[in-house]
Amino acid sequence: MNNPQRNTTDHTGAPLQRDRYLSATHEVINQPKALENYNLYEQDTALREAVIREGASHAHHDLSQFGAWAGKAETIELGNLANANKPSFRTHDRYGHRIDEVSFHPAYHELMGVALENGLHSSPWTNPGPGAHVARAAKYYLHSQVEAAHCCPITMTFAAVPSIRNQPELATIWEQKILTNEYDARNVPDSEKRAVTIGMAMTEKQGGSDVRANTTRAYAVGQEGPGQAYELVGHKWFVSAPMCDAFLVLAQTANGLSCFLMPRWRPDGTKNPWQVQQLKNKMGNVANASSEVEIRGALAWMVGEEGRGVPTIIEMVAMTRFDCMIGSAAGMRQAVAQATHHCHNRSAFGATLSDQPLMQNVLADLIIENEAALAYTLRVARAMDNQDNKHERLLARLATPVGKYWICKRTPNHAYEAMECIGGSGVMEDCIMPRLFRESPVNAIWEGSGNVQCLDTLRAIQKEPETLDAFFKEAAEAKGTDRRFDQFLAQLQHDFADISDFQYRARNLVDRMALTMQGSLLLRFGDKDVADAFCASRLQNNGGMNYGNLPSGTNPTAIIKRATPVVG
Ligand SMILES: Cc1cc2nc3c(=O)[nH]c(=O)nc-3n(C[C@H](O)[C@H](O)[C@H](O)COP(=O)(O)OP(=O)(O)OC[C@H]3O[C@@H](n4cnc5c(N)ncnc54)[C@H](O)[C@@H]3O)c2cc1C
Repeated sequence: MNNPQRNTTDHTGAPLQRDRYLSATHEVINQPKALENYNLYEQDTALREAVIREGASHAHHDLSQFGAWAGKAETIELGNLANANKPSFRTHDRYGHRIDEVSFHPAYHELMGVALENGLHSSPWTNPGPGAHVARAAKYYLHSQVEAAHCCPITMTFAAVPSIRNQPELATIWEQKILTNEYDARNVPDSEKRAVTIGMAMTEKQGGSDVRANTTRAYAVGQEGPGQAYELVGHKWFVSAPMCDAFLVLAQTANGLSCFLMPRWRPDGTKNPWQVQQLKNKMGNVANASSEVEIRGALAWMVGEEGRGVPTIIEMVAMTRFDCMIGSAAGMRQAVAQATHHCHNRSAFGATLSDQPLMQNVLADLIIENEAALAYTLRVARAMDNQDNKHERLLARLATPVGKYWICKRTPNHAYEAMECIGGSGVMEDCIMPRLFRESPVNAIWEGSGNVQCLDTLRAIQKEPETLDAFFKEAAEAKGTDRRFDQFLAQLQHDFADISDFQYRARNLVDRMALTMQGSLLLRFGDKDVADAFCASRLQNNGGMNYGNLPSGTNPTAIIKRATPVVG
């Protein structure tokens, strides 16, 4: 039978029509380009304004350079890699020696290096003064948008300094290495290092919020008391960043719960018997390791007064709570950047998404939440820069638990809603949104969960009523600028007059404290469209609970334009 061979090309070598048709099924259109190679600082109008307003204009150039680094495609990939490759843990080496070693992906180490070289753990202590905390907070805000999980040891190292200073002879030994702007990841004694990192270990199995239930005990090696050596026996249920060189640890002595500085190595170069049992299997905060530990006579030195462990470590905790605010506000900003970028470059039903009224309402609402969180956070940073001023000290005392509670708690739903703006692609693991979403509850839970922050707010008010006066004095600076704000403030002040059921009502009161302060800051210093939409949606009840509930008359177009990153 005649069976001629089929020709697949024409006389010029080009594929015949049917092959061309089969290989080119469609053209990819209406898909945004990846959000990369943009300057996270220069493209963030609200951040630039807040940095100037709160006294850190001197940092502008540095922040701009850092923002360019943070937006590079290679930098963004570091964050992806650090999260895609979970840390792993080995108790022993192959010869049977106990090593307690966590291995991280090189991207984690690179991010740690950048954070420490940029002084995110040190700058307000090494260069205090006007704008120091504000400048650091702004840089942390940029850095944490690249990858939030590794910021945990950075925060703890930064936050440990005020607590360790309670024991000056220990501070003399440790402070210089803590404040060195270098990263040394080696699993070797601190005596062989020029730079160290510090962690914290409070939480035990039987009690986390209520650390008074701690059962870990401390036995004096010789003399008892502040600065003296003890051996600790017990366990800790959550210890993040277990490769830190030393930890602030709470343990019981005969005179109550006390604070100790516990290095991972003894002065003779042997391993301190602080043994990691296993790593936590976390849903978020994946690039950072968290562990369970048993303590078998580990050598540690008492920090601060015996029996006053909580007031000693609380100075560290206050700082970490502040960083939770920065981290959650940063998560919101990255979510806003992703959502606005996507909707600006995607059309549906014949129009760009960010031009469609309903999507405009959602996007603008997300932006307002982020701007309010940022304004609040950097105002607290300024208060931290001015702790010798009574008003600022009182304000920081109360604004920290209020802000930690409110901003961290507003973040998970914000992340989810931004994910939905991106549609199905927002759910995919090669998009940053799943990571932002999984990270979002963590800040709300650690360093004192929501209820604990509310109770701390009440405790501060009851112990030092001037804190509430300072809070309201600051908020009232906006009085007379907006009728809705005035009514909201007056009602809140009225509700504080009645202290019955104080604990039961604490969330409601703290919610409204946060809203009052955010409203005040936006009205006084914020963009006028953002401030107006904030008052219309948050300070007067229009019935809606979800994002996308801005009432008519607000100006979403201007708000969205202000927040949408422009990619070159
Ligand atoms: C990823 C991760 C890393 C962590 N890393 C560390 C670490 O490095 N070091 C460390 O020490 N800890 C760490 N923790 C522990 C964390 O700080 C605690 O989980 C947290 O403080 C809550 O303690 P808990 O888990 O024992 O919960 P509980 O104390 O049992 O609290 C459970 C709930 O009850 C609420 N509650 C408690 N008391 C009251 C009350 N009186 N009235 C009303 N409600 C109340 C709390 O707000 C919380 O919602 C980490 C936690 C996580 C998730």
